[in-house]
Amino acid sequence: MNVVASVGRKARSILIDGVHCAAADGSEIEVLDPGNGEVFTTISSGDAADVDAAVTSARKASEAGWATMDARERGLKLIRLAALIDKNREELATIECRDTGKPIRQARSDAEFCARYFDFYGTAADKLHGETIPFRPGYTVFAVREPWGVTGHIIPWNYPAQIMGRSVGAALAAGNACVVKPAEDASLSTLFVAELGLDAGLPAGVFNVVTGYGYTAGAALSAHPGIDHISFTGSPGTGTQVQMAAARNNISVTMELGGKSPQIVFADANLDEAVPSIIAAITQNAGQTCSAGSRLLIQRPIWNELVARLKPAFEALRVGHGAQDHVVGPLINSRQRERVQAMTAAALASGVPLLAEAAMATDAPAGGFYVTPKLFGPVPEDHRIAQDEIFGPILAAFPFDDEADAIRIANGTAYGLVAGVWTLDGARQMRMVHRLKCGQVFINNFGAAGGVELPFGGVRRSGFGREKGIEGLKSFTVLKTAAFRHG
Ligand code: NAD
Repeated sequence: MNVVASVGRKARSILIDGVHCAAADGSEIEVLDPGNGEVFTTISSGDAADVDAAVTSARKASEAGWATMDARERGLKLIRLAALIDKNREELATIECRDTGKPIRQARSDAEFCARYFDFYGTAADKLHGETIPFRPGYTVFAVREPWGVTGHIIPWNYPAQIMGRSVGAALAAGNACVVKPAEDASLSTLFVAELGLDAGLPAGVFNVVTGYGYTAGAALSAHPGIDHISFTGSPGTGTQVQMAAARNNISVTMELGGKSPQIVFADANLDEAVPSIIAAITQNAGQTCSAGSRLLIQRPIWNELVARLKPAFEALRVGHGAQDHVVGPLINSRQRERVQAMTAAALASGVPLLAEAAMATDAPAGGFYVTPKLFGPVPEDHRIAQDEIFGPILAAFPFDDEADAIRIANGTAYGLVAGVWTLDGARQMRMVHRLKCGQVFINNFGAAGGVELPFGGVRRSGFGREKGIEGLKSFTVLKTAAFRHG
């Protein structure tokens, strides 16, 4: 495996038409270990020329038979890839841990999910049914699902293996050929899996990877006239730029953007179950999770009790290097750390009470991009840390009076990705599901343990379109209607 061997030395990392190559202009990006801030390898810094070559390769592979291959055969190749990922799971996890800084336990789980996405979509490839449509007498009408053709995938750095798996797995299963642009901060797992794809028998050119910066390779991919559909996962601001570039070619996009998701705890909640879930929802991946439960809404009668339970749980958390498997790892880079620190400084400067804070592990290396998890509250509803996505382990708590108040606060940001509700009242559970403005609602849990099968995506500033589950497979298809007049 070139890429694994390359961790620690130079990587020739762009993958076009099944061949690893350097960027056309030879430039490279240094890759840092977020746990100690040190450079441990390099990746190629692709640009428009490399994207163009990758799109040409994908088009050729699509037309050479990938799009029209027996769906079962296509699916079997993806199932084989899933098995190879599973076999190499520890290696993939080690790469992901080093590249993103996340705790190795989390990286192992991400590697497992990456394999599951390819398996889920591989087994679904031959179950992508079309529709028949009742029409006028004398006609038979049906609609078939066809692949878009060449799909572009722009991946963020927070869960690269999982997010690449869910979007590339679905796109390939539907018969598209892909050009993937992983984040410049975390590209290695995508390269690793793409290379396993060749071992699994994927034809050269169906899974191309162009590493590089967003403003160069990402922008070139978004604007390329040879791309038929773009799946973007990242920040709302970048999402807008990608949409504008895609609009010039009038192509469709799926936008998986950020969130400011509420965890709502009613007075009748089972706090023994809620407390560990509340903590995990904001500290998993050091809070760098689009669906992080970053706002905690507490019904007034249990404010003191819940805060009293959360305080020792926060203080027991330790922050350190991912390889040492502390509960919380570093943030991805210094820019992200400065952003989070500026937000917490703004909260402290405006007098928002700091209710609890975790501590650094004694063995955390110097130079890492660490931030200790913090619980603030009560937070004014219009404060920056109440409204903006922080993308760090910072939890903002708010008291609420009743259901209507909870709904008002929960729906009171520009985002709408997910929400969690803790209550034992069945009728209230149902009302909350209907009234929360977001893409997923979790009752007495948060995140449904990943949910490969569950359609995922947002509303409003959190984006549009759905990935994951069978709905995610459909996102990588376009319907063609055929009308037969037979009398
Ligand atoms: P980002 O928007 O900075 O980068 C995402 C990707 O876009 C990277 O590959 C980057 O190189 C690329 N990019 C940057 N500028 C570009 C441009 N001008 N044109 C095309 N591509 C460009 O986001 P990030 O900082 O990597 O990730 C954090 C954000 O992603 C957060 O807002 C988070 O909530 C969101 N996110 C959403 C989901 C979801 O499924 N909804 C999942 C993970 C992360």
